[in-house]
Amino acid sequence: MNRINKIKVIFTFFLTILSFCAYSQSNVFKVTLDAGHGDHDFGAVYSGRIEKNIALAIVLKVGKILELNPNVNVIYTRKTDVFIDLVERANIANRANSNIFVSIHCNANKNTAADGTETYVMGLTKLASNLEAAKKENSVITLEKDYQRKYEGYDPNSPESMIGMTLMQEEYLDNSISLATKIEDNFEKLGKKLRQGGVKQAPFMVLHKAYMPRVLVETGFVSNPTEGNILNSEEGQDDIAKAIAEAILSYKREYFGSGTEVPESRPIRDTSTPAKPKTTPVAVTKSAPKGTFYKVQLIASIKKTPLEPKNFKGLKNVTMIFENNIYKYFYEETSDYEKAKKFLQEAKGKGYGAAFLTATKDGEKISIQDAIK
Ligand SMILES: [Zn+2]
Repeated sequence: MNRINKIKVIFTFFLTILSFCAYSQSNVFKVTLDAGHGDHDFGAVYSGRIEKNIALAIVLKVGKILELNPNVNVIYTRKTDVFIDLVERANIANRANSNIFVSIHCNANKNTAADGTETYVMGLTKLASNLEAAKKENSVITLEKDYQRKYEGYDPNSPESMIGMTLMQEEYLDNSISLATKIEDNFEKLGKKLRQGGVKQAPFMVLHKAYMPRVLVETGFVSNPTEGNILNSEEGQDDIAKAIAEAILSYKREYFGSGTEVPESRPIRDTSTPAKPKTTPVAVTKSAPKGTFYKVQLIASIKKTPLEPKNFKGLKNVTMIFENNIYKYFYEETSDYEKAKKFLQEAKGKGYGAAFLTATKDGEKISIQDAIK
């Protein structure tokens, strides 16, 4: 073999190794599990039921079930009783390029009759009860050094103040709601053990900082004597962990494939792209007009809001579509790209900092790049 051929063989060998590594990488579903609180941050404590311990026990059990699956890579923000900054928890998931982020907590309320599981997705809310949960979980940042600088002056006592800094990436919201729904549905299967509080939306800092489908599970109220004892028991934790792990695996099968297929025969869907709508989008306003149109997407939400200017910071001509169990709200509509950009600036000026342009051609969603062409 001459020198050139030798180099060729070595080169081909390395290329094969590289592509194999790339393939196995893309075939692995990465889950970041976050056990809330830790060390001097106990979370909620009622009659010896300690949130940080319960959250960690459940996380370790969820991880153990997931790790039985060779195509799942579990990343833990903590596996022991240590304190970790909120932003670092999200960054652990960001650095790992995690496919999903699941933060696990317990709820608490002065009213010890309060009970039920709640699974949160990132978003805005005016509901006092949802804001209460976010306020409680976000307040742990005050235990961190230099939190005011780190969190851009964010005031944990007014979770609403996150609205300005919130990015409402719709693809994360679609997938986050899907995962949250699976978790809550599985809690329901536990029978009467835990009341199913359902999927909710609130501005949680730890979710805000994670750039992937993300949910925060309040597994029940430690303040409620009956529910608290379930949460604090080995059996209760096993049940909850199983419900969460199975929901994660079901999500993986739906959005990522089973991990056993050859990519050519069935493409594995990247979870960073939105899931295909299961239902045909329902246009609330009018039937699709011919031609290319631009609209400004203001927000996406699981709540239906009447299309009145007072609900949209004074913006008129707001329309809505219901797609994938999510309401999406749009401002204006124009076939002129320059005008569309002005509408976008207007929306941002009103406080919709994460608003973005969307485009349709003959009623079908297309990319902005294609629309401009
Ligand atoms: Zn908590």
